[in-house]
Amino acid sequence: MMIPRWKYIGIAGGFIFLLHLLASIHPTYRATTSPFNLLPSGGWKAGIPPDSAVPSWGGEGLPSADDLRNDEALDGRRKANAVFVVLARNSDLWPFLDSMRQMEDRFNHWAKYDYVFLNEEDFSDEFKKYTQSMTKANCHYGKIEPSHWYQPDWIDEEKATKAREDMIRKKVIYGHSVPYRNMCRFNSGFFYRHPLLADYDYYWRIEPSVKFFCDLNYDPFLVMQDEKKVYGFTLSLYEYIETIPTLWDAVKEFVQEHPDYLPEGNAMQFLSDDGGETYNKCHFWSNFEIGDLNFWRSEPYTEFFDYLDRKGGFYYERWGDAPVHSIGAALFAKKEQIHWFEDIGYRHEPFQHCPQGDAHTRGNCWCDQGNNFDFEWYSCTKRYVDMF
Ligand code: GDP
Ligand code: MN
Repeated sequence: MMIPRWKYIGIAGGFIFLLHLLASIHPTYRATTSPFNLLPSGGWKAGIPPDSAVPSWGGEGLPSADDLRNDEALDGRRKANAVFVVLARNSDLWPFLDSMRQMEDRFNHWAKYDYVFLNEEDFSDEFKKYTQSMTKANCHYGKIEPSHWYQPDWIDEEKATKAREDMIRKKVIYGHSVPYRNMCRFNSGFFYRHPLLADYDYYWRIEPSVKFFCDLNYDPFLVMQDEKKVYGFTLSLYEYIETIPTLWDAVKEFVQEHPDYLPEGNAMQFLSDDGGETYNKCHFWSNFEIGDLNFWRSEPYTEFFDYLDRKGGFYYERWGDAPVHSIGAALFAKKEQIHWFEDIGYRHEPFQHCPQGDAHTRGNCWCDQGNNFDFEWYSCTKRYVDMF
Protein backbone atom coordinates (compact mmCIF):
# COMPACT_ATOMS: atom_id res chain seq x y z
CA MET A 1 0.00 0.00 0.00
CA MET A 2 1.31 3.47 -0.87
CA ILE A 3 1.37 6.12 1.88
CA PRO A 4 1.56 9.70 0.58
CA ARG A 5 4.69 11.66 1.71
CA TRP A 6 2.70 14.25 3.72
CA LYS A 7 1.32 11.41 5.83
CA TYR A 8 4.86 10.31 6.80
CA ILE A 9 5.50 13.83 8.05
CA GLY A 10 2.22 13.78 9.96
CA ILE A 11 2.96 10.44 11.60
CA ALA A 12 6.54 11.42 12.54
CA GLY A 13 5.35 14.79 13.90
CA GLY A 14 2.67 13.14 16.00
CA PHE A 15 5.20 10.68 17.36
CA ILE A 16 7.61 13.45 18.39
CA PHE A 17 4.76 15.39 20.00
CA LEU A 18 3.75 12.32 21.99
CA LEU A 19 7.37 11.79 23.15
CA HIS A 20 7.60 15.38 24.38
CA LEU A 21 4.30 15.07 26.17
CA LEU A 22 5.39 11.90 27.95
CA ALA A 23 8.82 13.28 28.75
CA SER A 24 7.48 16.50 30.17
CA ILE A 25 5.44 14.49 32.67
CA HIS A 26 8.53 12.55 33.74
CA PRO A 27 10.17 14.19 36.80
CA THR A 28 13.81 14.03 35.67
CA TYR A 29 12.93 15.68 32.37
CA ARG A 30 11.01 18.41 34.14
CA ALA A 31 13.83 19.01 36.61
CA THR A 32 16.50 19.38 33.99
CA THR A 33 14.75 21.26 31.25
CA SER A 34 12.54 23.84 32.88
CA PRO A 35 14.46 27.03 33.63
CA PHE A 36 12.15 27.56 36.61
CA ASN A 37 13.40 24.39 38.20
CA LEU A 38 16.96 25.66 38.23
CA LEU A 39 16.02 28.04 41.03
CA PRO A 40 14.35 27.15 44.30
CA SER A 41 10.66 28.01 44.16
CA GLY A 42 10.35 31.75 44.59
CA GLY A 43 13.89 32.32 43.31
CA TRP A 44 16.85 33.37 45.42
CA LYS A 45 14.79 35.23 48.00
CA ALA A 46 13.35 31.89 49.01
CA GLY A 47 16.89 30.64 49.27
CA ILE A 48 17.68 32.77 52.28
CA PRO A 49 20.10 30.90 54.49
CA PRO A 50 19.09 29.90 58.03
CA ASP A 51 18.78 32.65 60.62
CA SER A 52 22.29 32.15 61.90
CA ALA A 53 23.66 33.21 58.54
CA VAL A 54 21.43 36.21 57.94
CA PRO A 55 23.64 38.81 59.61
CA SER A 56 26.37 37.75 57.23
CA TRP A 57 24.96 39.76 54.37
CA GLY A 58 26.10 43.31 54.74
CA GLY A 59 24.13 45.05 52.00
CA GLU A 60 20.46 46.07 52.01
CA GLY A 61 18.84 42.74 52.90
CA LEU A 62 19.98 39.57 51.23
CA PRO A 63 21.32 39.49 47.68
CA SER A 64 18.81 38.75 44.96
CA ALA A 65 19.51 36.46 42.02
CA ASP A 66 20.22 39.49 39.87
CA ASP A 67 22.53 40.95 42.51
CA LEU A 68 24.57 37.80 42.52
CA ARG A 69 24.95 37.84 38.79
CA ASN A 70 25.66 41.55 38.63
CA ASP A 71 29.18 42.07 39.87
CA GLU A 72 28.92 45.87 40.14
CA ALA A 73 25.87 45.63 42.39
CA LEU A 74 28.02 43.80 44.93
CA ASP A 75 31.04 46.04 44.83
CA GLY A 76 30.09 48.17 47.82
CA ARG A 77 29.06 45.29 50.03
CA ARG A 78 30.50 44.67 53.47
CA LYS A 79 33.39 42.23 53.36
CA ALA A 80 35.53 40.47 55.90
CA ASN A 81 39.28 40.88 55.91
CA ALA A 82 39.72 37.44 54.46
CA VAL A 83 41.58 35.47 51.83
CA PHE A 84 41.79 32.02 50.25
CA VAL A 85 44.97 30.16 51.16
CA VAL A 86 46.41 27.56 48.83
CA LEU A 87 49.51 25.52 49.51
CA ALA A 88 50.55 23.97 46.24
CA ARG A 89 53.35 22.72 44.04
CA ASN A 90 53.67 23.83 40.43
CA SER A 91 52.59 20.33 39.48
CA ASP A 92 49.29 20.92 41.33
CA LEU A 93 48.26 23.56 38.77
CA TRP A 94 45.62 21.67 36.77
CA PRO A 95 44.10 19.77 39.69
CA PHE A 96 43.97 23.06 41.56
CA LEU A 97 42.26 24.92 38.72
CA ASP A 98 39.52 22.33 38.96
CA SER A 99 38.91 23.42 42.58
CA MET A 100 39.36 27.11 41.86
CA ARG A 101 36.93 27.17 38.94
CA GLN A 102 34.29 25.73 41.26
CA MET A 103 35.05 28.16 44.07
CA GLU A 104 34.67 31.02 41.60
CA ASP A 105 31.44 29.67 40.13
CA ARG A 106 29.83 28.81 43.46
CA PHE A 107 30.93 31.83 45.52
CA ASN A 108 33.83 34.02 44.60
CA HIS A 109 32.57 35.44 41.30
CA TRP A 110 30.48 37.74 43.50
CA ALA A 111 32.41 37.71 46.77
CA LYS A 112 35.76 38.56 45.18
CA TYR A 113 38.15 37.54 47.90
CA ASP A 114 41.84 37.41 47.01
CA TYR A 115 43.98 34.30 46.94
CA VAL A 116 47.36 33.67 48.54
CA PHE A 117 49.37 30.82 47.02
CA LEU A 118 52.27 29.40 49.01
CA ASN A 119 55.05 27.06 47.95
CA GLU A 120 58.55 26.16 49.16
CA GLU A 121 59.74 26.74 45.58
CA ASP A 122 59.09 29.61 43.17
CA PHE A 123 55.78 29.41 41.38
CA SER A 124 56.15 29.05 37.62
CA ASP A 125 54.88 31.71 35.21
CA GLU A 126 52.44 29.12 33.91
CA PHE A 127 51.04 28.56 37.41
CA LYS A 128 50.61 32.30 37.96
CA LYS A 129 49.09 32.93 34.57
CA TYR A 130 46.40 30.26 34.73
CA THR A 131 45.41 30.83 38.34
CA GLN A 132 45.15 34.61 37.98
CA SER A 133 43.11 34.21 34.80
CA MET A 134 40.50 32.21 36.70
CA THR A 135 39.39 35.11 38.93
CA LYS A 136 38.71 38.84 38.96
CA ALA A 137 40.18 39.03 42.46
CA ASN A 138 43.93 39.36 43.00
CA CYS A 139 46.25 36.42 43.39
CA HIS A 140 49.41 36.74 45.46
CA TYR A 141 52.25 34.23 45.25
CA GLY A 142 54.64 33.61 48.10
CA LYS A 143 57.68 31.52 48.82
CA ILE A 144 57.95 29.75 52.15
CA GLU A 145 60.97 30.51 54.30
CA PRO A 146 63.14 27.33 54.46
CA SER A 147 63.05 27.15 58.28
CA HIS A 148 59.23 27.01 58.10
CA TRP A 149 59.29 24.12 55.69
CA TYR A 150 62.26 21.79 55.89
CA GLN A 151 63.02 19.27 58.63
CA PRO A 152 64.87 21.14 61.40
CA ASP A 153 68.55 20.30 62.18
CA TRP A 154 67.76 19.24 65.72
CA ILE A 155 65.65 16.30 64.51
CA ASP A 156 67.60 13.06 64.98
CA GLU A 157 67.67 11.83 61.39
CA GLU A 158 68.46 8.25 62.39
CA LYS A 159 65.37 8.10 64.59
CA ALA A 160 63.26 9.76 61.87
CA THR A 161 64.47 7.31 59.21
CA LYS A 162 63.67 4.37 61.44
CA ALA A 163 60.18 5.73 62.05
CA ARG A 164 59.57 6.07 58.32
CA GLU A 165 60.79 2.51 57.69
CA ASP A 166 58.46 1.18 60.38
CA MET A 167 55.54 3.00 58.79
CA ILE A 168 56.38 1.62 55.35
CA ARG A 169 56.22 -1.88 56.87
CA LYS A 170 52.87 -1.04 58.44
CA LYS A 171 51.67 0.41 55.12
CA VAL A 172 50.75 3.76 56.68
CA ILE A 173 49.64 6.24 54.03
CA TYR A 174 52.45 8.78 53.30
CA GLY A 175 54.47 6.91 55.98
CA HIS A 176 57.59 7.04 53.79
CA SER A 177 57.34 10.71 52.88
CA VAL A 178 59.44 13.57 54.26
CA PRO A 179 57.77 16.25 52.06
CA TYR A 180 54.39 15.18 53.41
CA ARG A 181 55.70 15.66 56.95
CA ASN A 182 57.07 19.10 56.00
CA MET A 183 53.61 19.95 54.67
CA CYS A 184 51.84 18.79 57.84
CA ARG A 185 54.19 20.77 60.07
CA PHE A 186 53.91 23.88 57.90
CA ASN A 187 50.11 23.74 57.87
CA SER A 188 50.03 23.11 61.62
CA GLY A 189 52.21 25.95 62.74
CA PHE A 190 53.55 28.22 60.03
CA PHE A 191 51.17 29.11 57.21
CA TYR A 192 49.49 31.88 59.24
CA ARG A 193 52.87 33.50 59.92
CA HIS A 194 53.64 34.02 56.24
CA PRO A 195 54.14 37.73 55.43
CA LEU A 196 51.49 37.59 52.68
CA LEU A 197 48.90 36.66 55.31
CA ALA A 198 50.04 39.15 57.92
CA ASP A 199 47.31 41.70 57.21
CA TYR A 200 44.41 39.23 57.02
CA ASP A 201 42.09 38.01 59.76
CA TYR A 202 40.29 35.05 58.16
CA TYR A 203 41.22 32.38 55.63
CA TRP A 204 39.61 29.60 53.66
CA ARG A 205 41.93 26.76 52.77
CA ILE A 206 41.47 25.13 49.36
CA GLU A 207 43.19 22.05 48.00
CA PRO A 208 43.58 20.66 44.49
CA SER A 209 40.90 18.31 43.10
CA VAL A 210 38.14 19.08 45.58
CA LYS A 211 34.51 19.72 44.74
CA PHE A 212 32.16 22.48 45.87
CA PHE A 213 28.64 21.33 45.15
CA CYS A 214 26.42 24.27 46.09
CA ASP A 215 25.91 27.94 45.33
CA LEU A 216 26.67 30.18 48.28
CA ASN A 217 24.50 33.29 48.52
CA TYR A 218 25.92 34.46 51.80
CA ASP A 219 29.45 35.15 52.95
CA PRO A 220 30.84 32.51 55.34
CA PHE A 221 33.68 34.82 56.34
CA LEU A 222 31.13 37.29 57.71
CA VAL A 223 29.49 34.48 59.67
CA MET A 224 32.88 33.77 61.23
CA GLN A 225 33.47 37.42 62.02
CA ASP A 226 29.97 38.40 63.18
CA GLU A 227 29.52 35.31 65.34
CA LYS A 228 33.10 35.25 66.66
CA LYS A 229 33.76 31.79 65.29
CA VAL A 230 37.34 30.63 65.06
CA TYR A 231 37.13 27.39 63.10
CA GLY A 232 34.76 26.10 60.41
CA PHE A 233 34.61 22.59 58.97
CA THR A 234 32.45 20.38 56.75
CA LEU A 235 33.74 16.84 57.40
CA SER A 236 35.24 15.05 60.38
CA LEU A 237 36.65 11.57 60.93
CA TYR A 238 39.03 9.38 62.94
CA GLU A 239 42.80 9.63 62.58
CA TYR A 240 45.03 6.59 61.94
CA ILE A 241 46.56 5.91 65.34
CA GLU A 242 49.84 4.78 63.73
CA THR A 243 50.48 8.38 62.69
CA ILE A 244 50.00 9.89 66.17
CA PRO A 245 50.81 7.25 68.84
CA THR A 246 52.23 9.80 71.35
CA LEU A 247 50.38 12.98 70.30
CA TRP A 248 47.81 12.81 73.07
CA ASP A 249 50.51 12.26 75.73
CA ALA A 250 52.12 15.48 74.55
CA VAL A 251 48.76 17.27 74.61
CA LYS A 252 48.08 16.14 78.18
CA GLU A 253 51.51 17.29 79.36
CA PHE A 254 50.90 20.67 77.76
CA VAL A 255 47.47 21.02 79.30
CA GLN A 256 48.86 20.14 82.74
CA GLU A 257 51.37 22.94 82.39
CA HIS A 258 48.80 25.43 81.09
CA PRO A 259 45.36 24.62 82.47
CA ASP A 260 44.51 28.32 82.19
CA TYR A 261 44.59 28.16 78.39
CA LEU A 262 41.42 26.04 78.29
CA PRO A 263 38.26 28.13 78.46
CA GLU A 264 35.12 26.98 80.22
CA GLY A 265 32.82 25.30 77.69
CA ASN A 266 35.53 24.12 75.29
CA ALA A 267 35.02 21.18 72.93
CA MET A 268 36.98 18.52 74.85
CA GLN A 269 33.92 16.27 74.46
CA PHE A 270 34.60 16.10 70.75
CA LEU A 271 38.13 14.78 71.36
CA SER A 272 37.73 12.51 74.32
CA ASP A 273 35.09 10.18 75.73
CA ASP A 274 36.66 10.06 79.20
CA GLY A 275 37.18 13.69 80.11
CA GLY A 276 40.59 13.97 78.47
CA GLU A 277 42.28 10.76 79.65
CA THR A 278 42.41 9.26 76.14
CA TYR A 279 42.00 10.68 72.64
CA ASN A 280 39.18 9.24 70.56
CA LYS A 281 41.11 10.22 67.38
CA CYS A 282 38.35 12.56 66.15
CA HIS A 283 39.43 15.50 64.03
CA PHE A 284 38.01 17.98 61.59
CA TRP A 285 39.22 17.26 58.07
CA SER A 286 41.57 20.16 57.47
CA ASN A 287 41.69 20.07 53.68
CA PHE A 288 38.59 22.26 54.11
CA GLU A 289 39.02 24.98 56.70
CA ILE A 290 37.55 28.40 57.22
CA GLY A 291 39.38 29.88 60.14
CA ASP A 292 40.45 32.85 62.21
CA LEU A 293 44.15 33.51 61.61
CA ASN A 294 44.41 35.42 64.89
CA PHE A 295 43.32 32.33 66.77
CA TRP A 296 46.36 30.44 65.47
CA ARG A 297 48.49 33.49 66.24
CA SER A 298 47.24 33.68 69.83
CA GLU A 299 49.41 32.77 72.81
CA PRO A 300 47.74 29.42 73.68
CA TYR A 301 48.00 28.00 70.17
CA THR A 302 51.48 29.40 69.56
CA GLU A 303 52.75 27.86 72.80
CA PHE A 304 50.91 24.63 71.98
CA PHE A 305 52.41 24.31 68.51
CA ASP A 306 55.93 25.08 69.78
CA TYR A 307 55.52 22.47 72.50
CA LEU A 308 54.43 19.82 69.98
CA ASP A 309 57.13 20.82 67.52
CA ARG A 310 59.84 20.36 70.15
CA LYS A 311 58.61 16.80 70.74
CA GLY A 312 59.62 16.05 67.14
CA GLY A 313 56.43 14.09 66.43
CA PHE A 314 55.98 15.68 63.01
CA TYR A 315 59.07 13.65 61.96
CA TYR A 316 59.39 10.81 64.52
CA GLU A 317 55.75 9.96 63.89
CA ARG A 318 53.61 11.59 61.21
CA TRP A 319 51.47 14.08 63.10
CA GLY A 320 48.93 15.62 60.75
CA ASP A 321 47.76 19.22 60.69
CA ALA A 322 44.17 17.95 60.94
CA PRO A 323 44.47 16.48 64.46
CA VAL A 324 46.80 19.29 65.56
CA HIS A 325 44.43 22.06 64.40
CA SER A 326 41.39 20.18 65.69
CA ILE A 327 42.87 19.62 69.13
CA GLY A 328 43.98 23.26 69.27
CA ALA A 329 40.56 24.56 68.27
CA ALA A 330 38.66 22.16 70.52
CA LEU A 331 40.76 22.95 73.60
CA PHE A 332 41.45 26.68 73.31
CA ALA A 333 38.10 27.86 71.92
CA LYS A 334 34.58 27.56 73.21
CA LYS A 335 32.58 24.85 71.45
CA GLU A 336 30.21 27.45 69.95
CA GLN A 337 33.19 28.99 68.19
CA ILE A 338 33.61 25.87 66.08
CA HIS A 339 31.14 25.97 63.20
CA TRP A 340 29.87 23.17 61.03
CA PHE A 341 29.21 24.64 57.57
CA GLU A 342 26.37 22.25 56.94
CA ASP A 343 25.21 24.09 53.83
CA ILE A 344 28.55 23.92 52.00
CA GLY A 345 28.57 20.82 49.81
CA TYR A 346 32.14 19.56 49.62
CA ARG A 347 34.14 16.57 48.48
CA HIS A 348 37.77 15.63 48.97
CA GLU A 349 38.39 12.06 47.93
CA PRO A 350 37.10 9.71 49.21
CA PHE A 351 34.49 11.47 51.39
CA GLN A 352 31.85 14.10 50.81
CA HIS A 353 29.43 16.23 52.72
CA CYS A 354 26.21 16.71 50.76
CA PRO A 355 23.69 19.17 52.30
CA GLN A 356 20.32 17.60 52.99
CA GLY A 357 16.76 18.76 52.34
CA ASP A 358 16.15 22.50 52.14
CA ALA A 359 19.82 23.36 52.19
CA HIS A 360 20.30 21.20 49.11
CA THR A 361 17.53 23.06 47.29
CA ARG A 362 18.69 26.50 48.44
CA GLY A 363 22.18 25.89 47.14
CA ASN A 364 21.15 24.24 43.87
CA CYS A 365 23.53 21.49 44.95
CA TRP A 366 24.51 18.83 42.43
CA CYS A 367 25.61 16.12 44.88
CA ASP A 368 23.57 12.99 45.60
CA GLN A 369 22.03 13.45 49.05
CA GLY A 370 22.32 9.71 49.54
CA ASN A 371 26.09 10.03 49.29
CA ASN A 372 26.81 11.87 52.51
CA PHE A 373 29.47 10.98 55.07
CA ASP A 374 28.05 12.99 58.01
CA PHE A 375 26.74 10.17 60.14
CA GLU A 376 28.59 7.18 58.70
CA TRP A 377 30.39 4.99 61.23
CA TYR A 378 33.77 6.51 60.41
CA SER A 379 32.61 10.11 60.81
CA CYS A 380 32.90 12.13 64.04
CA THR A 381 30.25 14.69 63.15
CA LYS A 382 27.69 13.07 65.45
CA ARG A 383 30.02 13.80 68.36
CA TYR A 384 30.17 17.42 67.26
CA VAL A 385 26.37 17.67 67.01
CA ASP A 386 25.90 15.93 70.38
CA MET A 387 27.87 18.64 72.17
CA PHE A 388 24.98 21.10 71.75
P1 GDP B 1 46.23 14.63 51.30
O1 GDP B 1 45.00 15.46 51.10
O2 GDP B 1 46.49 14.37 52.75
O3 GDP B 1 46.26 13.40 50.46
O4 GDP B 1 47.50 15.51 50.83
P2 GDP B 1 47.68 16.42 49.53
O5 GDP B 1 48.63 15.75 48.59
O6 GDP B 1 46.36 16.86 48.98
O7 GDP B 1 48.44 17.67 50.14
C1 GDP B 1 47.82 18.58 50.99
C2 GDP B 1 48.05 20.02 50.49
O8 GDP B 1 49.42 20.35 50.53
C3 GDP B 1 47.62 20.25 49.05
O9 GDP B 1 47.16 21.58 48.95
C4 GDP B 1 48.90 20.06 48.27
O10 GDP B 1 48.88 20.81 47.09
C5 GDP B 1 49.94 20.59 49.25
N1 GDP B 1 51.23 19.92 49.20
C6 GDP B 1 51.49 18.62 49.51
N2 GDP B 1 52.81 18.35 49.42
C7 GDP B 1 53.41 19.50 49.05
C8 GDP B 1 54.78 19.87 48.78
O11 GDP B 1 55.72 19.09 48.88
N3 GDP B 1 54.99 21.18 48.43
C9 GDP B 1 53.99 22.09 48.32
N4 GDP B 1 54.29 23.34 47.97
N5 GDP B 1 52.70 21.77 48.56
C10 GDP B 1 52.41 20.50 48.92
MN1 MN C 1 44.35 16.57 49.54
